[in-house]
Amino acid sequence: MEKLTVDVVVIGAGLSGLVSAYHLLKTDHRLKVLVLEAKDRIGGRTQTVQLKSADGSIDFWDVGGEWVGRPQMFLQDLLKTFRLDTFIPTATNTYVPVPTEPPLSWKTRVDLKMLCLKLRRLKSIIDSIESLVDSIRAIQWDAITLENYVKENLWTEGAMAVVDTACRCMFGLSPSEMSLLYFLMYIQDAGGLEVFIQPNMYSGKDCRVKGGIQQLASNIVYKIGRKNVLLRQPVTHIVQNPERVVVVTSNRMQVLCQRVILAVPPHHIASISFTPSLPPNQLSLLKSVPLAFLVKFAVTYEEAFWRNDTGSNQFGFQRVLEDPGAGSVGIVYDATSSGGNPALAGFLSSVSDTDSDDEAHKKKILYLLEALLGDSVRDFVDITLKDWSKEPYNGGCFLKSLIPGTTRYLNQDLRTAFDRVHFAGTETATVWCGFMNGAVQSGFRAASEILKHLCPEETTTTNNNSGGLNLALKSMSLAIFGAGLLSVAFMLMKSNAANKSSPILKLLVEK
Ligand SMILES: Cc1cc2nc3c(=O)[nH]c(=O)nc-3n(C[C@H](O)[C@H](O)[C@H](O)COP(=O)(O)OP(=O)(O)OC[C@H]3O[C@@H](n4cnc5c(N)ncnc54)[C@H](O)[C@@H]3O)c2cc1C
Repeated sequence: MEKLTVDVVVIGAGLSGLVSAYHLLKTDHRLKVLVLEAKDRIGGRTQTVQLKSADGSIDFWDVGGEWVGRPQMFLQDLLKTFRLDTFIPTATNTYVPVPTEPPLSWKTRVDLKMLCLKLRRLKSIIDSIESLVDSIRAIQWDAITLENYVKENLWTEGAMAVVDTACRCMFGLSPSEMSLLYFLMYIQDAGGLEVFIQPNMYSGKDCRVKGGIQQLASNIVYKIGRKNVLLRQPVTHIVQNPERVVVVTSNRMQVLCQRVILAVPPHHIASISFTPSLPPNQLSLLKSVPLAFLVKFAVTYEEAFWRNDTGSNQFGFQRVLEDPGAGSVGIVYDATSSGGNPALAGFLSSVSDTDSDDEAHKKKILYLLEALLGDSVRDFVDITLKDWSKEPYNGGCFLKSLIPGTTRYLNQDLRTAFDRVHFAGTETATVWCGFMNGAVQSGFRAASEILKHLCPEETTTTNNNSGGLNLALKSMSLAIFGAGLLSVAFMLMKSNAANKSSPILKLLVEK
């Protein structure tokens, strides 16, 4: 059995794990930090693939995390640090993450606005509650599904369809599969439902990284040192006592350390054995995280023929994929690369497809695209897809959802350190939870927790900054919400907002 000794072991080389290792080493380069990744690649739920494009050259598309929002400051700052450029692919500089075509009627719009206001009010009540576990409100809202709530609070079918599509696109789940509390905790932290259904610059999806987001993970690994990231090392055991921790992998590697950062999706924590064990209620909650089903695809073409389609908004083209009988089963959007190579990309999130293999998914995707855009769909140059429900050590899709009745426990426990084991991962974030920005924030937070113990003298400034940052982010969330409601004022606010964000961005700029 190979034995190593380091200061900190980070488990998981997704964005959150890599960011925490980066922050630890940047704060104190004397620390010995080792990242253990189960798979043979880094990046976790981010992955960039190569496809042949129109002129025969190779270009890059993301089959995992892709969209970056201007208010996502942790991610934006990190991209700047690593000199990765973004581009805004839409003609209007705006992008509606959840397609709402044909244009929504005024009744549907009013209905949705009222719903957004109500959700906002519920979220402010949740935020004022000290312990969700004992709160009557949290118990009630965790017991009903989002579907129950919207059926009681929406009166137009159009609005219900938008909420349904928003959920499927954002979670890979239907509103009947999540509790109202879960939805409030996650979507409101990202700026509210309005961010997903209205075109505005505060959306989490308005630009993409030139050449693909996976460069971020690669650049971080380069910075922290390739030798400090070990692939194909699935962690199976974590044994701790008051002085130290031993991390064991399935390849019989044993690493002795002072602290651990566990940066893996919640349901995978449940498959690691702990000595002493995790508290039983936390363990059973981790096991009760259902896996969503989501396939992401990208198809390249010689020409962007869909831009001639009536109703499409140039680069802003985006449509719901309808399966006769099953209703909306995914979305497709214009994914033309920064180099101008035409492509379509999208998601398939139909529960009935869970058992299909890649070939069956491909057939289905082409069939749905053809039904929407005609014969030209078949004349593609290259195609790729990724079924995230079958991805080892990730499973499911964007975000791990909780079954109704569990959110009020786990949301509080998810980032509470278990003695010497600290938790990162997008699901533990307090802003943009479920997104890459949340993963980055959680990585910084988990590293800061450890730095307080290992190098308290180095962390005074960091901690002060994160306090200021949290405050700034809370204010920014409010700004995002306001902007959603006042979408008419959006164009006027556009130039101001870019300037307004700079002081917050400055807080994040590295020292
Ligand atoms: C299809 C898709 C599209 C998305 N689109 C967007 C988007 O447009 N914008 C956006 O902001 N976000 C998007 N997301 C979400 C975003 O990608 C994730 O929130 C983020 O990448 C999660 O990072 P993480 O570090 O928290 O977790 P992960 O990326 O899941 O990293 C966890 C790592 O831990 C490893 N691991 C698991 N178990 C073990 C073990 N026992 N031992 C060692 N290692 C282990 C895994 O292999 C993995 O590498 C998307 C996600 C998907 C799947």
